[in-house]
Amino acid sequence: MTCRPDLLHRLGLYGAERARAGLQRRLRTIDRADGPWVERDGRRLLSFCSNDYLGLAQHPALVDALKRAADSDGVGSGSAHLICGHRPAHAALEEALAEWTGRERALLFSTGYMANLGVMQALLQHGDLCVQDKLNHACLIDGAQLAGATLKRYPHTDVDAAARQLAGQAETGALLATDGVFSMDGDIAPLPGLAALCHREGATFMVDDAHGLGVLGARGEGSVAAAGLGQDEVPVLMATLGKALGCSGAFVAGPAALIDGLVQSARTYIYTTAMPPALAAATLAAVRLAQAEGWRRAKLEALIARFRQGAAQLGLPLMPSPTAIQPLLLGHAQAALDASTALERQGFLVTAIRPPTVPQGKARLRITLSAAHEETDVDRLLEALSRVPTGQPV
Ligand SMILES: *Cc1c(COP(=O)(O)O)cnc(C)c1O
Repeated sequence: MTCRPDLLHRLGLYGAERARAGLQRRLRTIDRADGPWVERDGRRLLSFCSNDYLGLAQHPALVDALKRAADSDGVGSGSAHLICGHRPAHAALEEALAEWTGRERALLFSTGYMANLGVMQALLQHGDLCVQDKLNHACLIDGAQLAGATLKRYPHTDVDAAARQLAGQAETGALLATDGVFSMDGDIAPLPGLAALCHREGATFMVDDAHGLGVLGARGEGSVAAAGLGQDEVPVLMATLGKALGCSGAFVAGPAALIDGLVQSARTYIYTTAMPPALAAATLAAVRLAQAEGWRRAKLEALIARFRQGAAQLGLPLMPSPTAIQPLLLGHAQAALDASTALERQGFLVTAIRPPTVPQGKARLRITLSAAHEETDVDRLLEALSRVPTGQPV
């Protein structure tokens, strides 16, 4: 016998601890999705928590593209891109994404999580500096840590603090990474200020635009283009295909030298199966719709304005977000859970977001709007929220 800890037992203790703190995560199955409506446990709920911002996830053009590609190519790609998994559908999608975002080239990854790990591991060496917004997505944080970089996190959207973190280390390789639109707060990063800072300090600027692509910019090019910035200012642009585009996967776009380098070095690109070609075909159909159907962005914008106005009238604790992500800050994890349960009783699905996904004391309802919603949906949600105890944020 040894006195080694039993790993499964230790894991169980951690789970029990989280449950006691009201922080247990619970997996629940959605039986059916029909636009913004979902069916769960036999009940129909109007969902305000998906990232399908343009309402494309069930669009017939995507479904048709997926089916036709599956009929001709089958399902699995069969291998990694560099072995024999790379098909014309992947190449066409990469080309369309590069053109859309105004980049020289683009490279597909199977998920956004893997894209961020891969980029950071390829760009950063042990001892390099990685400066990040405190509220960046978990996979950007993980990426820097796994790459062995020195991670410094500046207070949310504080360009001066970021400058202080970069200062005085002129010899060290440095990457500054930020969400374009913050996933849990919905606000937009100070991109021009951060780009100017990176230029001054010789740091490489990376933007994760998971929640900006498709939604911001005249043709949905994303937060970077909307801020008037291009490839020179933001050489490393990453975005996902599973949010506004309604599909799954991600890409990194930038100069040819970046993309060639990723193909050589990004382990999460090299050592994994290429996404199904039919999914790439469906995603290309989504890109075309997102570019052409500006009415989806206009409708979403009108719904956001309507929601914010109504919530302000009700005195709800809104956050300063101009995007489809409209969090209601409730403070305690239990308050967020209670509000979510109360909404469910009234026929709405809005999941509570608790620590550690958000900071301690900043639990919230993360309400998301979509072009698939109607004005009456928003009005009904507001009416339900007026009956939900939203308490005082901590
Ligand atoms: C969702 C998200 C990711 C991860 O993308 P997946 O494709 O879901 O793995 C990365 N960054 C941000 C900001 C996200 O919101």
